[in-house]
Amino acid sequence: MQIKRLRLSGFKSFVDPADLRIEPGLTGVVGPNGCGKSNLLEALRWTMGENSAKSMRGAGMEDVIFAGTATRPPRDFAEVSLLAEVNGAETEIVRRIERGAGSAYRIDGKDVRAKDVSLLFADAATGAHSPALVSQGRISAVIAAKPTDRRAMLEEAAGIAGLHVRRRDAEQKLRATEANLLRLDEVIADQE
Ligand code: ATP
Repeated sequence: MQIKRLRLSGFKSFVDPADLRIEPGLTGVVGPNGCGKSNLLEALRWTMGENSAKSMRGAGMEDVIFAGTATRPPRDFAEVSLLAEVNGAETEIVRRIERGAGSAYRIDGKDVRAKDVSLLFADAATGAHSPALVSQGRISAVIAAKPTDRRAMLEEAAGIAGLHVRRRDAEQKLRATEANLLRLDEVIADQE
């Protein structure tokens, strides 16, 4: 997967719509302390489905919405759009959060579940917890990680993390079908 563009509006310090084109090769983001460099990486992780407010340096997920300054009022929503090339086709993934209404996701303009977005990225061997996204403090966390956590990282890197979710879904469906079959047997027995 190649990420080609990040578009932010009302996300943390990016109150006005901002477009970042990401060209092939190395991209550097430079600026003084506190100008919003880490916020950019967080915007990327957030759009990929990050659901831990703590890892977004907030107390609740609504803390990603522009909170206002001395000269500007707070915003009611934050939206981040990510344009990526997935299997040779351009795909737009959008996450939006509104105060009091929670998050919503869209893929190519269609409303989808958070799980659909996670699976899209997991299948492309990336995602909100991808080892390729190295934020501050992450290296020491990897060194200190438990073997099970390291295994999860390797699975993400190998692009097989999505299989666990699908397996869980399939098992749930199987159990529901088994329950239905049992019920059917009971109904048939009643008829006889
Ligand atoms: P450093 O180089 O020190 O790591 P940085 O360039 O990575 O800094 P960030 O940590 O991305 O900067 O940005 C911090 C800035 O974002 C702070 O000025 C903070 O006030 C602002 N900020 C964070 N959340 C919000 C919010 N919800 N609303 C408005 N501003 C916010």
